[in-house]
Amino acid sequence: MAIRVLPPGVAARIAAGEVIERPASVVKELVENSLDAGARVIGVEIRHGGLASIRVTDDGCGIPADEVALAFERHATSKLVSVEDLTDIDTLGFRGEALASIAAAAGVRMTTRTADAESATTVELESGAIVRQSAAGAGLGTTIEVEALFSTIPARLKFIRSSAAETARVRQTMDHLAMAHPHVQFSLKTDGRLQLSTSGNGSLRDAVAAVHGAELAQAMIEVGSWTGAYPVWGLVGTPEQSRANRTGISLFVNNRWVQHRAVGVAIEEAYRGLLMEGRFPIAVVFLDVPPGEVDVNVHPNKREVRLSHEGDAFSSVQHAVRDALLAASPIAEGEGLLSQAVAAPPSLQPELTFASQEREQSPLPEPAPVMEEAHAPLAPPPGASPLSRLRVLGQIANTYIVADGPDGMYLIDQHAAHESVLYYRLLRQWANSAPEVQPMLEPLPMGLTPQQMDALGEGRAVLERYGLLVEPFGDDTLLVRAVPVMARRVDAAKLVAEALDGFAARTNGADTHLSAAASIACHSAVRAGQTLDQQEMTALGEALASEMNPQHCPHGRPTVIRVSTDVLGRQFGRL
Ligand code: ADP
Ligand code: MG
Repeated sequence: MAIRVLPPGVAARIAAGEVIERPASVVKELVENSLDAGARVIGVEIRHGGLASIRVTDDGCGIPADEVALAFERHATSKLVSVEDLTDIDTLGFRGEALASIAAAAGVRMTTRTADAESATTVELESGAIVRQSAAGAGLGTTIEVEALFSTIPARLKFIRSSAAETARVRQTMDHLAMAHPHVQFSLKTDGRLQLSTSGNGSLRDAVAAVHGAELAQAMIEVGSWTGAYPVWGLVGTPEQSRANRTGISLFVNNRWVQHRAVGVAIEEAYRGLLMEGRFPIAVVFLDVPPGEVDVNVHPNKREVRLSHEGDAFSSVQHAVRDALLAASPIAEGEGLLSQAVAAPPSLQPELTFASQEREQSPLPEPAPVMEEAHAPLAPPPGASPLSRLRVLGQIANTYIVADGPDGMYLIDQHAAHESVLYYRLLRQWANSAPEVQPMLEPLPMGLTPQQMDALGEGRAVLERYGLLVEPFGDDTLLVRAVPVMARRVDAAKLVAEALDGFAARTNGADTHLSAAASIACHSAVRAGQTLDQQEMTALGEALASEMNPQHCPHGRPTVIRVSTDVLGRQFGRL
């Protein structure tokens, strides 16, 4: 066949398919137009997942009568004049493609009125062409109705699954638009049912409440950090408010809901050690990047962005979220023991000093062997946690340490607590590239599976930075030459095997090194069932108190539970 230029109608439909994949993309484009028009109230109604009809009403600036036809031309926009503007976009739209694309894919009717116009203008389009235009009576703003979407593009319809699935996507799109614009009052009706309604009072928490429910939003933790490379703010769920998938994670770059793999991972990393394996946080996180450092023009529907300094974005987000979580992290209450949960009393807030009664009274006890690491060089942070005032009383079932402390009884899971202490110590050693290494008297040979051998390629450097020195020896054997000091009493072959197996299951670098730390810490920590003497227990309590994140082990289990004196009083009928 000879080469021909496509007729304009055909070209328009192909282009339409790029901008609008599905009903939710139409909703997104139309609502973004309303936002760009300065609307404060935006109502959306859809039927049959948006395939039958989509209607968006706004109270924005409207379009002057003589420009209405132009608005539906391809590459017609009021938002972009020169190519330089592309690097400095502050509107949501800029391509001038949405209205043209929608009109090519569906029947469209628009009624719009500007503030200074005598009357509104109504225009109707079929297959992208205007078939009627007339004056009409209507208030300020714009209403646009889209009917029989994709009826002109049957191929597209094939990719649409159920109307329920499309309804869900529209809902998700609206949820994100509402969270990104808390000062705008949004409503969404699907098949006549009100699904979402926000107040537009400007409060992010209220907008998030409309999306995730009031109870959840109320408990979410505020994030706000202006000290990293980029400002980050938002609301994140407590570790208890986790989900089994990533649907609760919402990331906005410059107020635009985006998908960004690396920055998404940064949010998850911030929860490292606070969530159980396989659980994901709920998070509504906003990242602000200078317009010149972000390219939103990567994808036709603008869902993906490219960042010039991805690493800076990653660490800004990770630190901001992590700091907020740590600041808010309470000690778990011993719920099983109580009839009512008790709020942490104000006396538990910081400004306590790092000092245990034991230490004040007697000279420093020699730490017992098993706890040497737990006692090792740790600088207590300023304003340490209430754990710094624990007085260890004894051990229960050789597994839990009982202590007296501020406002109640504390129960420490000895394994989880020790593991957490060692884990964070390893991470510090990693950060300083200063592992504490114990050379083996003679190298320990161990056999490896082919997968483990594979994992060794990249994993070796990671292991070494933790003090685990290994050397390939032939095709399927490894020599272990040194281990981390804390792991010197551990079965080194088992430790290496587990770390390598862990590598094989991980995909990114951060994951790999953290999983190695978790393995080493877990193997090196005291076991449940191991008898500890007073000094060991005290050393552990102190080490725990001085850690950054003492209340959870790397797997997310609590390390400490508090049973408040209030609860005890109530249980004994004193209160
Ligand atoms: P873009 O948003 O990329 O400029 P669109 O095709 O979405 O392109 O819209 C074309 C133009 O129509 C916009 O630039 C704007 O001037 C006008 N417009 C579209 N929707 C509205 C609306 N709801 N209120 C006011 N003006 C609108
Ligand atoms: Mg637009």
